[in-house]
Amino acid sequence: MLVIKGGHVVGVGVADVLISDGAIAGVGSFSGDSVIDASGLVVLPGFVDTHRHLVQAPMRGTGADLTLGAFLADVLPRMASLSPDDVRAAVLLGAVEALNAGVTTVVDWGHFGAASVEVEALVESGIRAVLGVGVDEAGGFSPAGLVTGAVASFGPSLPLEDNARDIEVARGLGLPTTMHVTSAGPVARLYDAGLLGPDLHFVHGNVCADDELKMLADAGCGLTVTPAVESMMGHGPAVYGRFLAAGGAPALGVDVVINSSADMFEQMRAALWLERLRGAELEAGSLLRAASADGARAIGLGAVTGSLEVGRRADVVLLSGFGHLSSEMVAGGIVATGGVGDVHTVLVDGRVVKRGGELVDHDLAGLRAAVAGVARQVLG
Ligand SMILES: [Zn+2]
Repeated sequence: MLVIKGGHVVGVGVADVLISDGAIAGVGSFSGDSVIDASGLVVLPGFVDTHRHLVQAPMRGTGADLTLGAFLADVLPRMASLSPDDVRAAVLLGAVEALNAGVTTVVDWGHFGAASVEVEALVESGIRAVLGVGVDEAGGFSPAGLVTGAVASFGPSLPLEDNARDIEVARGLGLPTTMHVTSAGPVARLYDAGLLGPDLHFVHGNVCADDELKMLADAGCGLTVTPAVESMMGHGPAVYGRFLAAGGAPALGVDVVINSSADMFEQMRAALWLERLRGAELEAGSLLRAASADGARAIGLGAVTGSLEVGRRADVVLLSGFGHLSSEMVAGGIVATGGVGDVHTVLVDGRVVKRGGELVDHDLAGLRAAVAGVARQVLG
């Protein structure tokens, strides 16, 4: 039994969190064999990043002025030349970078053809992950540790029959399907074909019509907004508020660190800023739910992670710097002003991966140094 003692649990107030066999066993008043002193700290569920291309971690900052079109045409094809060792090191760096930022679950859009080394890297990192693999690899995919699979379909920009095939393969294997949607029309075609369902997860959707967003919401599909990258690369206004208005519960993703930071604080804030810029009323603290419980639900992990309810796996983050805030203010305060520097302690599946501001198992600077040549290689 592990007890996180005396922290300010978001939504509850000062309380202890009891962890047993890697799961949340209670929120209240407890004693245990092993105690993490959380006095002065805020306790919340680990962040759930529902869309990231971890393999691009070594490319951090290289796309500050890149449009999506230029990236797809000029940079992405060159990444195909990465060796399995490069992919392993890149994914490990990306996953550890995420953990350091309090991201305990990530949906990683995989580097096609490299699923086995990616699984190794994800397991080594200690993060909980859903790895999106190409449809041709999906049949041979084996879950390992905290890593499960999804089919990463290139649709719905694919012809409908290709999308339908990918979705059918995924359903046959019992896997979710994750896909980018960057044009209007494909969602309506999937709807007309009767293919939408809660096992489908879409990303971006900036140009989706309102009725398409309602189709997604009504069918229980997940939708992830990546507001920083979408703003940087010309996707168009983020769909966060429109999906809420359609009855959906948007999730949030970092997407790529070529032009976005590796944490969910930036994503929560970017979504909030964009909504307030267009005059929408949106409570700042509500973004925390998008970055945890709603994210978990969007990718089919709602019963596993994303909240501190009894029975969920113990994916937990402790933040410093917010101990002065009241229960009413703390969620909004974190969204408006939080950062990676506030991430004090991180647990995944009940295991401490960051303690007192330091990663337990990994050296982030060393991992970054190990892939220093990758960006140069890709950029030529
Ligand atoms: Zn993407």
